[in-house]
Amino acid sequence: MPPVRGRLTHGAPLAPLVWFKTGGAAEWLFEPADADDLASFLYALDPGVPVMALGLGSNMIVRDGGVPGVVIRLGKAFAKVTADGLALTCGGGASGILVSSTARDAGIAGVEFLRSIPGTVGGFVRMNGGAYGREVRDILVEAEVVLRSGEQRTLALGDLGYSYRHSDLPEGAVVVSATFRGEPGEPAAIQAEMDRIAAAREASQPLRSKTGGSTFANPDGDKAWRLIDAAGCRGLTRGGAQVSEKHCNFLLNLGDATSADIEGLGEDVRAAVKAASGVDLRWEIQRVGIVA
Ligand SMILES: Cc1cc2nc3c(=O)[nH]c(=O)nc-3n(C[C@H](O)[C@H](O)[C@H](O)COP(=O)(O)OP(=O)(O)OC[C@H]3O[C@@H](n4cnc5c(N)ncnc54)[C@H](O)[C@@H]3O)c2cc1C
Repeated sequence: MPPVRGRLTHGAPLAPLVWFKTGGAAEWLFEPADADDLASFLYALDPGVPVMALGLGSNMIVRDGGVPGVVIRLGKAFAKVTADGLALTCGGGASGILVSSTARDAGIAGVEFLRSIPGTVGGFVRMNGGAYGREVRDILVEAEVVLRSGEQRTLALGDLGYSYRHSDLPEGAVVVSATFRGEPGEPAAIQAEMDRIAAAREASQPLRSKTGGSTFANPDGDKAWRLIDAAGCRGLTRGGAQVSEKHCNFLLNLGDATSADIEGLGEDVRAAVKAASGVDLRWEIQRVGIVA
């Protein structure tokens, strides 16, 4: 492995770092000191070694055989958010809560929805994260990325090829920061909107469970949860995994699930929905690594 200033760990368990709390280890886990450390590492790394970014693992199944190559996790050096006028400059490792509360304090409205998505700016940009009628493409100005080659580049909104919960971010690229833009707003009104969103979340989603967020993207003109419910899958189990009773587009690790249980249950649901309604659900959760 090339020399680094940050932390490089061989055989690092990933289960503690992801919401499902399942899965194998990263062959290498790299926590860079800063963007230049990441860029020089990727430049020197054998181009044949696969690279994957990890945020809070809130939309990810890490398979039980682990992840070959290098997993990159952005730590404190990438977790700052600053406001300037209506613009927010956010480190790729900053949380949605920090982005939305910094926006509130600066009187910037329109990013309240990030309060409810439990991930990092890098994950939001990659996934076009969204909730309550807004998504990242509505607020993104540009993103700073380090490509797999080590090249540092600024990507404008139009370069990211956004569609519903999808971007064309190149394979192996790491988002190290992003600039969002909102509208002028009153901090008290922004806080009220954040509170409304948080309460709606609490009522409808299993937020305190080992889960991975929405399992399947909503198909055009329909809701994945409605199709799953209609196919009779609410509460369905496989090994230690269950389809949430509270929100049936969420899968749960009841305590001793493997990633194979969770992914297998998702495939059971896809098959049941296909049989009941003819719809092919698309996985929204990212499934990474190798089957044990
Ligand atoms: C309870 C719960 C509720 C949720 N509600 C929503 C919701 O309302 N709306 C919504 O959109 N999502 C929701 N999610 C899913 C998830 O929070 C989002 O997809 C979020 O964007 C993932 O962020 P993350 O940083 O945890 O990414 P991870 O889950 O770690 O990774 C997801 C993908 O992003 C990539 N990635 C992560 N960081 C970077 C980076 N720095 N650079 C490049 N790529 C990166 C990963 O490689 C992977 O492909 C929910 C999840 C949970 C658990």
